[in-house]
Amino acid sequence: MSRNAESTAFRSALEVVRGVEPRVADAIAAELADQRESLKLIASENYASPATLLAMGNWFSDKYAEGTVGRRFYAGCQNVDTVEALAAEHARELFGASHAYVQPHSGIDANLVAFWAILADRVESPALRKAQARQVNDLTEADWFALRRELGNQRMLGMSLDAGGHLTHGFRPNISGKMFDQRSYGTDPATGLIDYDRVAEAAREFKPLILVAGYSAYPRKVNFRIMREIADSVGATFMVDMAHFAGLVAGKVFTGDFDPVPHAHIVTTTTHKSLRGPRGGMVLCGPELADQVDRGCPMVLGGPLPHVMAAKAVALAEARRPDFADYAQRIVDNAQALADGLLRRGATLVTGGTDNHLVLIDVSGYGLTGRQAEQALLDSGIVTNRNSVPQDPNGAWYTSGIRIGTPALTTRGLGAAEMDATAELIHTVLSQTTPGTGPDGAPSKAKYVLDPAVAESVGKQAADLLTPFPLYPSVDLG
Ligand SMILES: *Cc1c(COP(=O)(O)O)cnc(C)c1O
Repeated sequence: MSRNAESTAFRSALEVVRGVEPRVADAIAAELADQRESLKLIASENYASPATLLAMGNWFSDKYAEGTVGRRFYAGCQNVDTVEALAAEHARELFGASHAYVQPHSGIDANLVAFWAILADRVESPALRKAQARQVNDLTEADWFALRRELGNQRMLGMSLDAGGHLTHGFRPNISGKMFDQRSYGTDPATGLIDYDRVAEAAREFKPLILVAGYSAYPRKVNFRIMREIADSVGATFMVDMAHFAGLVAGKVFTGDFDPVPHAHIVTTTTHKSLRGPRGGMVLCGPELADQVDRGCPMVLGGPLPHVMAAKAVALAEARRPDFADYAQRIVDNAQALADGLLRRGATLVTGGTDNHLVLIDVSGYGLTGRQAEQALLDSGIVTNRNSVPQDPNGAWYTSGIRIGTPALTTRGLGAAEMDATAELIHTVLSQTTPGTGPDGAPSKAKYVLDPAVAESVGKQAADLLTPFPLYPSVDLG
C-alpha cells in the first residue's frame, strides 16, 4: 500500500467534509494532531490501521440490516451479508471459536447480548419459550408477570469493580446489577491476586447462573481452566469478557489455561482495545448458545452498523497475520519494562507487576489520590486514567490508582528503552506533585501542586520520546 494512497484518501475525505461543515473537518484534523503529540498510556485505547479507518467511511452506513446473515428483516442486504460473514469467519479462525457474532456496537452491548442469550437458554420459563416461538399474542398477563419475575431473579457472580472488574459484571448502579442478583469476588488483600479457592467458595454458597471472568484493571493473567471447573461444579454458565486483552489472545500470548475461548461457554469482547480494530464489540460462543446470540439484533441491539462490520473484517484480517502475534508480544514486553522501571524507582504496583498489557500504580505511595496524579500527569503531557485499587479508601471518583497500558504506544513502535524513559517521567511527576488544600485550608482530594517548570520539562521530554515514532506515518494531511 503506498503511503501516497493513504494521505490522498484522508486529505480528500477532509476536503469533502470541509465543503459542508469546516469546523468538523478542523476538529478531525486537530484530533490527529493531538493524538500525535500525546504520550497515550490509556490501557483501553489504541490506533486502528488506515485500512480499518477507511473501511468505515462509506455507504454501508446507509443500510438497514436487522437480523443476521441470510435471515434479514430488510431486503437488499447481500453486500452486508458479505462483510458480516467475512468478519465472523475471520473472528472464528482467529480465536478458534465455533460461532462469532460481530454486530454489537460496543463491549457493553456485547455483554448485554450474552446475558440475554444465557437467560433465554438457561431459564426454564414457558412464557419465554412462547414469546420466542413468536406466539407473543398467546401470552397472558400472568405469563408476562412470571417471565419478568423469573428472568429478574437470576444470579451472577463477577469480579468486583475495585478489584478490576467491569461495571457490566453486576455493579449495582449498572443495568447488569439491576438485571441480576449479583455477588462479586475480589482479590487477596495481601497479594492482589485472584484467590481461586475463594471464588469457588463464593460460587458454592451463591450458586450463580452465570460466573463472569474478565477485567478492565487487573494486571495479571486469569486461569480460565480453573474458573470453568468452578462454574461446572455449581452448574453455572461461564462467561469471559476479554474486552481488554483480546489482542493478547489473538496474538497467542495468552494460550492454554489463559486462553478463554476453549474454556468459556461464551466470550465477549470489544474490537477497539488491544485488538486494534474499529470501535465495536463481538460475541464468541459454541453451538448451544449461537441461536440466542444471533437474536442480539433486534432483541437487544439497535440496527447493525454494516460500515463498522466492514472495518471489523479488515482489522480481524490484520490480526490473523504473523506480525500481529509479534505486536501482541511486544505489548506485554513493554508493560513489563514499564513496570520494572517504575518498581526500580520506588513506585508501588498492585500485584507487584504485570503479565498483561497494563500496570496499576498505587499512588498513595506518593501521597496522592488518583485524581491528583491523573491531572498532574496530564499537565505534563502524559495521558493516563485514574482507577480504583483493591479496597480503595478514596472511592471510585477520586481513587488511589493510575492505570497505564501499552497497546497504543506499542502500535507507534516504542520499545523497552522508551518504556524505561516513560517510567522515569511518570515517577518524576508523581514524586514532585504534592496534595493541595481546599478553600477552607482542609486537605483536598482533587487539588494538587506541581511546579509548572517540572510539568513543562517533562512534557518536552515526553514529546521528544515520541518524535522517532510518528503516529500514522503514512498520513500527511498537508
Ligand atoms: C471496555 C470494557 C467494556 C466496555 O466496552 P465499550 O465498548 O466501552 O462498551 C466491557 N467490558 C470490559 C471488561 C471492558 O474493559
